Amino acid sequence: MNSSEYVYLDYAATTPMDPQVIDVVEKHFKNTYGNPSSLHSAGQKAAKVLYNARTSIASLINADRKDIIFTSSGTEADNIAIQGVAHKNKDRGNHIITSSIEHHAVENPCKFLMKQGFDVTFLPVDKFGLVDPIKLQEEITNETILISIMFANNEIGTIEPINDIGEIAKDNDVIFHTDAVQAFGKIPIDVKELNIDLLSASAHKIYGPKGVGMLYMKNQGIRQNWGKYIDPIMFGGGHERNMRPSTENVPGIAGFGKAAEICEEELPIEINRQIKLRDRLIKTTLDSIDDSYLNGHPKKRLPNNANFGFKYVEGESILLDLDSGKIAASTGSACSSASLEPSHVLSAIGLTPQDAHGSLRVSIGRFTTEEEIDYFLEKIPPIIERLREISPVRK
Ligand SMILES: *Cc1c(COP(=O)(O)O)cnc(C)c1O
Repeated sequence: MNSSEYVYLDYAATTPMDPQVIDVVEKHFKNTYGNPSSLHSAGQKAAKVLYNARTSIASLINADRKDIIFTSSGTEADNIAIQGVAHKNKDRGNHIITSSIEHHAVENPCKFLMKQGFDVTFLPVDKFGLVDPIKLQEEITNETILISIMFANNEIGTIEPINDIGEIAKDNDVIFHTDAVQAFGKIPIDVKELNIDLLSASAHKIYGPKGVGMLYMKNQGIRQNWGKYIDPIMFGGGHERNMRPSTENVPGIAGFGKAAEICEEELPIEINRQIKLRDRLIKTTLDSIDDSYLNGHPKKRLPNNANFGFKYVEGESILLDLDSGKIAASTGSACSSASLEPSHVLSAIGLTPQDAHGSLRVSIGRFTTEEEIDYFLEKIPPIIERLREISPVRK
């Protein structure tokens, strides 16, 4: 490992852009200035860029091109899906089912809807972070209008039983949304086979630019179906089938399309390569450090995610020491703010607040090398050892 290099192991937070994506975005910033809604050729050139990106993105999840709606982020896609379905269907019922480990982009729109009189069930998960489809089935009532369960968790990497959930939703005639921001482009997804009605994704988690996302909306490609089961949450022009008004971010969307194409090409190779790296990372870390354990499911987990618990240490201290050692990772402890609340995900899988504070998420990606994993594996044991020596909570 060259000592001047920085080892980035936080791909679940965001990814560096692929150089090929940067080329595409740059090209369109320079050349594709037309408004895709304009009828002149500069506009039509921009419309063609959107068409191509939509095709590439749809292909990655076996969707129809016209069912892809561009948004400004994964968060916005989640908000349109949840608030849009709730408002459109409030005469049919006021009950929503979600899980207790959703990203804040799903959790907080649900909490906002509760203030407006909706009834939200936050399904518990088991110690691996799995939703139980039988419990889900039991919670469905005549009032249930929406199920929103994430495809894979951003902190612990657990992949949910989306196949079973989709079937249950279909059999009970309930709309099914999945936040697939972490899974999209990383594991195979087929929206038709899985009975998914709505799916959110984000470009910056798949080596594309920040500030671009999409919502797959089943059957929105046909004009008569526009808005049949979902309302927009923002009002303006008729862009994106009336679902998301705003002039589209053409260069960003072009980059998203290119990022999706590369993911589709690389998927079979990258899954196997990253699983090997991940499993070596997990095994060696657990073998070399006492009182350490894995959070999330050992097998049903994203190829790029490892989440460790280290007893008697603070995740934030580990992060600072790793950063001094030129390694970037993440923790479920006191994330991003002055809040001392442990992550709701780690609490939901049964960790005590103290143990949740000793968590470390290591997430890898397409640019992660064997040498980088070696470097992390060399650095981490002495860091944990040193922190435990000075820890006030050491047994
Ligand atoms: C990152 C992430 C989001 C938010 O996506 P943005 O494009 O950053 O708004 C939503 N859900 C999950 C699971 C994520 O990992």
